[in-house]
Amino acid sequence: MLLCSGKIPSDSSMDRGDCLSLYMMETSKKNFPVIGIIGGGQLGKMFIQKASQWSVPVNILDKDEHCPSGVLANRHLLGSITNGDDIQQLADISDVLTWEIEHIDVDKLIELKAQGKTIIPDPDILKIIQDKGRQKNFYQQHQIPTAPFFVAKDKYQAAEMLAKTGFRKMAVKACTGGYDGKGVFITERHAVLENPDIIPFDGELMVEEFVPCKTEIAVLVARNQKGEMAVYPAIEMEFDPVSNLVSFLKSPANIPYHLEVRAEQIALQCASAFNSPGLLAVEFFLSEENELLVNEIAPRPHNSAHHTIEGFFTSQYEQLLRVLLGMPLGATHLKMPCSMVNLVGPETGSGRYRLRYFNELNALPGVYVHLYGKEESKPNRKLGHITMVQPSMEKLLEITQKVRTLTEIEIIE
Ligand code: ADP
Repeated sequence: MLLCSGKIPSDSSMDRGDCLSLYMMETSKKNFPVIGIIGGGQLGKMFIQKASQWSVPVNILDKDEHCPSGVLANRHLLGSITNGDDIQQLADISDVLTWEIEHIDVDKLIELKAQGKTIIPDPDILKIIQDKGRQKNFYQQHQIPTAPFFVAKDKYQAAEMLAKTGFRKMAVKACTGGYDGKGVFITERHAVLENPDIIPFDGELMVEEFVPCKTEIAVLVARNQKGEMAVYPAIEMEFDPVSNLVSFLKSPANIPYHLEVRAEQIALQCASAFNSPGLLAVEFFLSEENELLVNEIAPRPHNSAHHTIEGFFTSQYEQLLRVLLGMPLGATHLKMPCSMVNLVGPETGSGRYRLRYFNELNALPGVYVHLYGKEESKPNRKLGHITMVQPSMEKLLEITQKVRTLTEIEIIE
């Protein structure tokens, strides 16, 4: 029975009978269902921080003993998120399953759903989202506005198909396995026609016409088990004009009211089309012609909504908790203008690290530092984030610029 407390190895050394009977005793004593999260990263950690406020027990499955959620989880099952047997073990000790990362064994979840397990969101959504080609076809079938595209079985077929389109510039995307821009290759028509081998991916590809953008925005929607929906105001990604990387996110977005309303409408349309409880983060391109086009959707808490913890009446994590517990949704009003910067590992090295100006940052009013507790820094690894909340947009931009000068991650060994 001791094996059931704290870290649980996913191999056969665990006595499943003992563990299950302990779980039955535990659930009968509790007011809430036990939640099981597939993945133990920072999204899970921030979710458990909220769940622990209401004393809702949360188990996690992650093979890394030192993953960010591990310290807070009720039970940490040490196992793989892509292994069906390990997911089964998490299901055995949890009433409701959810996930915080897309690259998991979705077929196992579909099997568990067929056996009557409660899984939120519906795993059929994940099956669609996991493949960029399938995802784009879904938008097309549901009249959700998105950039023109085609799907090819490999880079050579992509070049043949490209010749039949009018695309001059495009984003070539690996259908599976990409994240944080890895798996996206932006290139010109003539370059691919001349030499398809410049595409750095093998396997199936989704080729999308390049959208010259004014900006990129994201809208989060929550849908509860009764089908009620709540939508958050758009967040805008600010790009560094030199590196063209996202430098910070801000809410409310600086877009005309009618585009804000349109973005919220499209996000709700997406949630209706998927027809499942859960969170959906909908990312958009706002084209130079003021067209809103859905780029991609994440069916889980999202990096673009971290600011809802301090800046909104109900955070994205509380909203997901409400959905999983079968509750009504919370209010999605913004308290004050807010912004967010990610803290990422420097390009120059790997190893143990510290946030160099931790004290200086915490001396600033309305500035909230989150450190995820990852043991090592690696180039561009997300190690934390900082949310800024201020009474006016002017003050917000001022403090955001100041904070951006203080985000240095220093490698200490
Ligand atoms: P990931 O799923 O890895 O985050 P995305 O598909 O969101 O990848 O692409 C990453 C970034 O690449 C986008 O945020 C955008 O800046 C750029 N991008 C992707 N597709 C296009 C496109 N069709 N037109 C213009 N920019 C694009």
